[in-house]
Amino acid sequence: MLTQQQLQKFAELAVRVGANMQKGQEVVIRCDVQCAEFAHMIAEKAYEFGAKYVHMQWRDEVLGRINMLGASKEALSDVPDYTMAFNKYCIERKVCLISISAGDPNIMKGCDPDKMKASSLAAMQANKEFRAATMSNLLRWTIVSIPTKAWAKQVFPDMDSDKAVDKMWDAIGHIMRLDRDDPTQAWREHIATLHRRAEFLNAHNFEYIHMTNKRGTYLRVGLATDHQWIAAEELGQDGVPFTANMPTEEIFTAPHNRKIDGKVVNALPLVNNGNVIDDFEITFKDGRVADYKAKTGLDALKNILTTDEGVLSLGEIALIGKHSPIAESGILFYNTLFDENASCHLALGASYPTTVKGGNDMSAEQLAAHGMNQSLQHVDFMVGTKDIDIDGIGYDGSVTPLFRDGEWVI
Ligand code: ZN
Ligand code: ZN
Repeated sequence: MLTQQQLQKFAELAVRVGANMQKGQEVVIRCDVQCAEFAHMIAEKAYEFGAKYVHMQWRDEVLGRINMLGASKEALSDVPDYTMAFNKYCIERKVCLISISAGDPNIMKGCDPDKMKASSLAAMQANKEFRAATMSNLLRWTIVSIPTKAWAKQVFPDMDSDKAVDKMWDAIGHIMRLDRDDPTQAWREHIATLHRRAEFLNAHNFEYIHMTNKRGTYLRVGLATDHQWIAAEELGQDGVPFTANMPTEEIFTAPHNRKIDGKVVNALPLVNNGNVIDDFEITFKDGRVADYKAKTGLDALKNILTTDEGVLSLGEIALIGKHSPIAESGILFYNTLFDENASCHLALGASYPTTVKGGNDMSAEQLAAHGMNQSLQHVDFMVGTKDIDIDGIGYDGSVTPLFRDGEWVI
């Protein structure tokens, strides 16, 4: 369990290093009702550092399940106008967004996949502009995470839920560097290390990234023309830096969506909309999914892969060494924020315009010409095993080793 002081530090990290709220800014906190106490702490911190006003967007995963079981497909696909109105308000006011990602990874177990698909598709359509505003850094945003009972129980199934919650707080505290004397300073140093590696990758301007391991991954991922590797801190369109994911261990960029070939096997389960997908592999040809299999959650994988055309290619490649604190914890969190930071990952679907030089000022056609992928989806899945070898291949065919046995060698 964290001390009150550590919790305060955590809330401060979210406000100052994460979203990097500026004086006089409006803040939107998105959080499940189970996390109300921590959300209130963040709200107080925001005012301490000069927020103009704090809005709370409550989520309720339990009601989400009740609705999924009780409501019709039509009702679930009917997104109320006030959702779009609030999104518009957020974009106009350039709020900074702090999301608390916490939930039962199996909350939707047993629900009708058809209804789930319709409801998530409707939500994605309704939130399209808002998502574009976050993906292009028009809004500064961050995601942090705290334990909830059902989630902790899934992560530590042999413990009673109170003990599981305590254990998870300890793990998150360590991962978030809250056990350091000065967590904010520890984060600054960590961010600097990631940036050094990103600069190395940018200086080499690789044409391809090649990954292989004993599990059967043999994949060549072309990189978008004029791509740039990004880590930890990014610049908002207003020039103010922020850190979108906390924790973050990744250095990522955009694949070229017509230059991906080979097969990739997942390294960790993928949790998507309350479904667990595991033991799966995806084969790519000329940048598109040519075949896929899954031993667990095949329907859920199929649901993802039938969203639109763009989901059949990749929008992100991210590299993370096996000695990151999350990987070393050995804990499978069943939550993308943590698990994707434990392992190299790829994302099916949309790429971030920020991962190509000048991308924020490009039209959809210009982005496409650079090999940038567009989709309603962005689904990260983990591919980095402890034995993965990764090379960067230059435009002249030169090979630069980046990873050996799951760890950075640069
Ligand atoms: Zn990522
Ligand atoms: Zn991603």
